Amino acid sequence: MDTIEKLRILSEDSRYDMACACGSNNNDRRKRGLDGKWLYPVALPNGGYSILLKTLLSNSCSSDCKYCPIRSDADILRCTLKPEETANLFMDYVKKKKVFGLFLSSGIINNPDYTMDRINAVSRLLRYKHRYKGYIHLKIIPGTSDAAIEDSVSLASAVSLNIETPGKERFDLLSSKKDYINDIIRPIKLIGRLTSKDGKFSRVKPTTQFIVGASNETDSEIIKYMFGLYKKLNFRRVYFSAYQKGLGHHTIPGEQKTGFTPEQIFMREHRLYQVDYLIRKYGFSGGDIILDKSGNLELNKDPKEIWADHHPEFYPVRINMADKVSLLKVPGLGHVTVEMILKTRIRGKITRFEDLGLKGKRLENVKKYAIIE
Ligand code: SF4
Repeated sequence: MDTIEKLRILSEDSRYDMACACGSNNNDRRKRGLDGKWLYPVALPNGGYSILLKTLLSNSCSSDCKYCPIRSDADILRCTLKPEETANLFMDYVKKKKVFGLFLSSGIINNPDYTMDRINAVSRLLRYKHRYKGYIHLKIIPGTSDAAIEDSVSLASAVSLNIETPGKERFDLLSSKKDYINDIIRPIKLIGRLTSKDGKFSRVKPTTQFIVGASNETDSEIIKYMFGLYKKLNFRRVYFSAYQKGLGHHTIPGEQKTGFTPEQIFMREHRLYQVDYLIRKYGFSGGDIILDKSGNLELNKDPKEIWADHHPEFYPVRINMADKVSLLKVPGLGHVTVEMILKTRIRGKITRFEDLGLKGKRLENVKKYAIIE
């Protein structure tokens, strides 16, 4: 198999991982394919443009994660790129200005350290042989030793290790080979220390991802872990990936219990992103997130709107008087509109909702929770 054919297969197999944050605006984020599955923006050798070259080094894997299409017993065509091949190929893309960075992951070849060394070898070739100074996102392989993790972090612009589930009990439903505490939590804590404000590599961005709907977990558990990742472990971004039944060709015990349809799991993923945004950008705390009796987010309503409905004492908010924090609590008002309101108020009163530049449901929401007087 030649290098281009290997890249075609391996970049295809890498598309389910979102922790690379590929896509910086709505146009290059994932899209639904005709079969209802999500497609991720990747640069493929036979054409197409992406901001990141996103590929696996190998789709061979000694592990057996039940949700994963490349796990050890899956019947797929396996191949592996050599570090030199990968580095040369990537530099070709860079020279043609097709990509601005690299996302490199891999199935586990032999053992975690052997795999991590090969990933690091690509990064080392790029940094020292090709003098590449741009963006490199490296996947940390679960179970990798501390020394290999530190090596990766020293070479990368960003690193990610997917936490997958909130807690060991959930994780054990998905994999019989990986140990949650030693292979996932230990390295996540080390990455958090190395990349913290006072850490040796504070310039490096750590990210992680939960798989949603595969392990009978609740949103409440995910939100609790998400807080820990942001507040205690200094992670910069948490991503969510809806479990796609059938991708790993295995039935997962937790999958049967939840009772969520595939569409509902995608909606859970969407609601979790909204909660993540409220926490990172709107100063919401864990206690501000309102869940139903089963510990899950309401699927039919925005979490900010639910908070507003549970706190009538805050509303209506006065558009011409309220401070920034209160304005941000109004469903329908985001940072950009709030900044515009604050600036406009310096010059004079806002007299009509229509002058806020909003339309449709957003405008209706603002009218419901705010007043102009
Ligand atoms: S470790 Fe698990 S999730 Fe990662 S490639 Fe192997 S089987 Fe897939």
